[in-house]
Amino acid sequence: MTSPTDVDVVVIGGGPAGTTVASLASRAGLRVLLLERDTFPRYHIGESLAPSARKVLELTGALERVYDAGFQQKHGTRFTWLVDEWLLDWERLGTGIWSWQVDRASYDELNLRNASEQGVEVVEAARARRVIFEGERATGVEWSSGADDELRLTSARMVVDASGRDGLLSVRHLRNRRHHPHLANTATWGYWTGATLRDGAPRGATTSEAAGHGWWWQIPLADGRLSLGYVTPKTSFQDVRPNFESLEAYYLDRLADSPGVAPIVRGAELVSDIRAEQDYSYVADSFTGPGWAISGDAACFLDPLLSTGIHLAQYSGLTLAAAVVSALQGDIPEDEALAFYELTYRRAYSRLMVLTTRLYAAYAGQDNYFEHAEQLLDNSALGPLPVGNLSEIVTGASDLREVQDTSGRVDGAVLMAQAIDAQRTADEVSPENALRAGFSPLRNLELPADEEGGLRLITTPYVRLSRTEPPNAAA
Ligand SMILES: Cc1cc2nc3c(=O)[nH]c(=O)nc-3n(C[C@H](O)[C@H](O)[C@H](O)COP(=O)(O)OP(=O)(O)OC[C@H]3O[C@@H](n4cnc5c(N)ncnc54)[C@H](O)[C@@H]3O)c2cc1C
Repeated sequence: MTSPTDVDVVVIGGGPAGTTVASLASRAGLRVLLLERDTFPRYHIGESLAPSARKVLELTGALERVYDAGFQQKHGTRFTWLVDEWLLDWERLGTGIWSWQVDRASYDELNLRNASEQGVEVVEAARARRVIFEGERATGVEWSSGADDELRLTSARMVVDASGRDGLLSVRHLRNRRHHPHLANTATWGYWTGATLRDGAPRGATTSEAAGHGWWWQIPLADGRLSLGYVTPKTSFQDVRPNFESLEAYYLDRLADSPGVAPIVRGAELVSDIRAEQDYSYVADSFTGPGWAISGDAACFLDPLLSTGIHLAQYSGLTLAAAVVSALQGDIPEDEALAFYELTYRRAYSRLMVLTTRLYAAYAGQDNYFEHAEQLLDNSALGPLPVGNLSEIVTGASDLREVQDTSGRVDGAVLMAQAIDAQRTADEVSPENALRAGFSPLRNLELPADEEGGLRLITTPYVRLSRTEPPNAAA
């Protein structure tokens, strides 16, 4: 067993971000300890995956387990947005572009068990208490576990915070998490059996449907349950919620008040408690520093409108693993490798932020609930905001293509990215809607490349970074 006080990487958190970075770092030969506060399986919201997940799972070694779990296949998304209905049918974009609607307790457990199989030392019921710093450098983690809650110290060359919304580093140590005031929404959700979804959506699709004061997600799961959630501005929730004696009464009232959605659960049975989350869009001022990095929701989180949280978490786990492996192997200076990670993750987040705010802005005409979302576009803290094709972005293809080797050494997801034809996707969205929702390409910024060349992510024989040719090398 690896000495608990002498590892290469400590990862805090065993969700999609933590298991991705831990598995990939371990497969590259690093000694990795993963601390997870809970004992899996445990409940988590966020069931709808992007196709990029399949590429990441292939790299972590978990793909077969996830196939075998028999989750509901998802072949696209339907937005019923007032009078507009946009069908993003991934099958029309090329073969093999699909993902799953998962039960998160099972999905996250599969990924955690896979991390163990990849050589990660996984400790459940282990809470990271604080990150140890020597000067500005993170050097380890103090954590506790067991009935006695005994404190332990593990020193590491790199500390990865993948603690999700808890955000140990950014909330507790750095205090650099900033919430987006104009995406301060509240989600309320429950699970139903016997629901009847409207026809016309791609197979297994998520439907996102606007209703008076917000919108509803409808996510069909393999066991016949429907995840049905309502998202509304926090202010609206705070105004209306006190009129009801329970969260469930509030939720059922909102449902009854949504004529497009209520019929799908007529005669169906509510089989869960109603849960709620709020204030959930934020970004940390920095994702990296000497000896530390923040991954997934711990770094930034975006409203669930486009169902991209797990994509962002796993994508950040992938790019961070590449940076950590290259830095700890001495191939790329740590600050440069971590800068690559931070830049690529911020760009991915920014792209989705633009798309989300534009979609809300398109909706503002109805009753102005989301009109202020547009103001986020001026948020300079997010850096430049490249916007590309809608399907390409929400499937995660833009992000994977951006960081990867384009010389053909990466298969799967890059092929998927190439298969996505921007023109055909544009056919799915009428020109008028595309304009209103801001789906037209703006600009695509280059990753920095100095005289030594830039960096890119490669996946063989293991995930790491590689230098691109200097700009003038071909001359
Ligand atoms: C209402 C709502 C709906 C959503 N719907 C979707 C969707 O349809 N599709 C989608 O892709 N995403 C969705 N998401 C987002 C998605 O759930 C998250 O983006 C995703 O779970 C992030 O993964 P993560 O690994 O960063 O964090 P998490 O999955 O939250 O994992 C973090 C882990 O860290 C552990 N932890 C925390 N603190 C400590 C500590 N101190 N020590 C040790 N362990 C610790 C936790 O127990 C947890 O297991 C939704 C989110 C919300 C709020």
